[in-house]
Amino acid sequence: MRSNLTAKRDSKARRAGYLAYRQQTRRKRLSDIFAANLCVSKIAMSRHFDPHLVNGPFGDPALYVDLVFERRALLFDLGDLAPLSPRSLLRVSDVFVSHRHMDHFVGFDQLLRCILGRETTVRFYGSTGLIESIEHKLKAYTWNLIARYESNPVLRVTEIDADGRLTSAQFPGRVAFARVDDESAMGDDFVLLQEPGFLVRTTIIEHGVPALAFALEERAHINIWRNKLEAMGLAVGRWLGAFKEAILHGSPEDTPIEVAWTGARGERPESLPLGALKRDIMRVTSGRKIAYVVDCGFTEANAARVVALAKDADVLFIEAAFLQEDCARAAERQHLTAHQAGTLARLANVKRLVTLHYSPRYQGHGERLAREAETAFRGG
Ligand SMILES: [Zn+2]
Ligand SMILES: [Zn+2]
Repeated sequence: MRSNLTAKRDSKARRAGYLAYRQQTRRKRLSDIFAANLCVSKIAMSRHFDPHLVNGPFGDPALYVDLVFERRALLFDLGDLAPLSPRSLLRVSDVFVSHRHMDHFVGFDQLLRCILGRETTVRFYGSTGLIESIEHKLKAYTWNLIARYESNPVLRVTEIDADGRLTSAQFPGRVAFARVDDESAMGDDFVLLQEPGFLVRTTIIEHGVPALAFALEERAHINIWRNKLEAMGLAVGRWLGAFKEAILHGSPEDTPIEVAWTGARGERPESLPLGALKRDIMRVTSGRKIAYVVDCGFTEANAARVVALAKDADVLFIEAAFLQEDCARAAERQHLTAHQAGTLARLANVKRLVTLHYSPRYQGHGERLAREAETAFRGG
């Protein structure tokens, strides 16, 4: 029997090894780290995203992503939110604002109206100036009654600059949304939000003003087959944590993993090789990826950033404001044509393309934009 002290020391050493591993991989793309940084859970519940556009392709941009198992949602852009029920709005925990042209930000008030009097924190992310914009929005209202409310929301706002530095401030309802500045810190590779199950990354694109495009990346899982464990006579237990760490460290396939058996061990071995366990009891589910790109001039720099951000996404939501025949107008307004949107989707090798933010000049002819984008996407 190993003493507690030894176990503690081992766990410390493992932690140190893990930190070294993180250090070493820091410079790699985060998605690579995620591919390796797999989580072992019981029967891992697959995290499902359910994304849908709040308005039609001619309406204001807003993408609602329901995190089905968490009873909360993410929102990309704050165009008109009228179609969302109060129940849907109350699920929103994090809001990503591409830029503050009115068609992307007007829904802020609708969201705020809905969360007043609720004990909730809603986080907002955007480009430099978002804190000030939200401060001004909040200052536009009179808050003398809010101190009497039993519950009050907190708005936590984070903005990212061109170097990837994150600056945050809070606006607590109980002090009439007076601004409280937090310290700013260098971010990690333009990641705005990182949680055990997913992350949201951004890139800055040029649209006359800096605008943000976003990618939501689900983390890959290791699913442990409970029925296979049982069939082999293996018990669920802490050893699964060591199994995970061995995978995390990229340990060789013949690494012995101490296992626990159900019932008496009898003739059964104390450990099994890592490779055999990987083959017999686990299945890796790769995470899904969604990208959201709006209001983007078709420049070389923007194209490179969008393609890198959206690389291999399962779904790309992207603006297709103009027809290619109006590309001069698109360039002048720093928007994409449908053909350009489809081309970017093809270059990024995404699986599915959804276009939005059509210019009102094509009302009644939306299918032309959709078709043009799809043709370019298929390589036409
Ligand atoms: Zn715009
Ligand atoms: Zn716009």
